[in-house]
Amino acid sequence: MSKGKIIAIDGPAGAGKSTVSKIIAEKLKYTYIDTGAMYRAVAYKVIKQNKKITTPVIIEAAENMELDLRYDDGITKVFVDGEEITNEIRTPEVSKIASDVAKIGFVREKLTELQRKMATRGSVIMDGRDIATHVLPNANIKIFLTASIEERARRRCEELKSKGYNVDQNEISKEINLRDKQDMEREIAPLIKADDAILLDTTNKSIDEVVNKILDLTINS
Ligand code: C5P
Repeated sequence: MSKGKIIAIDGPAGAGKSTVSKIIAEKLKYTYIDTGAMYRAVAYKVIKQNKKITTPVIIEAAENMELDLRYDDGITKVFVDGEEITNEIRTPEVSKIASDVAKIGFVREKLTELQRKMATRGSVIMDGRDIATHVLPNANIKIFLTASIEERARRRCEELKSKGYNVDQNEISKEINLRDKQDMEREIAPLIKADDAILLDTTNKSIDEVVNKILDLTINS
């Protein structure tokens, strides 16, 4: 049997990457790899240490951490040092620190190596910021997913509200703008569309439309 394809999905926060990736993974029986969850896991461990957050503190946490992602039944369960932190890594605080830890070369090298290993068998859809440009430059399908800042903030707000957080859309908009700026301006593997990636603006598109477009591209590639 031939090896399944590799689909790389990049884009800013709230563009719909994980929503569409999960559906596509389910339809194609592929494994979904949420690389943002890995940066969030490092951030969570750093926050839990309750120390002043400095580069050496971040490196030490990443160096000594046992990270395990288990994709099961449409859900990516995240474990750090044996503790399940799947829900704990979705807070705005963790989002902010994740973007800070993502600037550090040591952290990126460690997680990139892990991500490449996870993709070796193919039949994988991986989402993040640097998948098409850096982690898997030979991916069969490369998509850069985006949407207007208003729409992305609205979606993130809905998502957090559905999980019981009391959030303000203006605050969320500021938070994701700041995070995107930091992700785009960092020196190592910044958020940028790969030259050969297909740009998909999801602002006025339904989830189904986006999913079908990516499925068409995958089947015909
Ligand atoms: O995708 P998500 O919002 O969960 O990612 C959290 C943060 O992790 C991003 O803002 C970014 O700083 C970092 N990240 C990254 N490279 C990836 C995935 C996520 O730098 N491939």
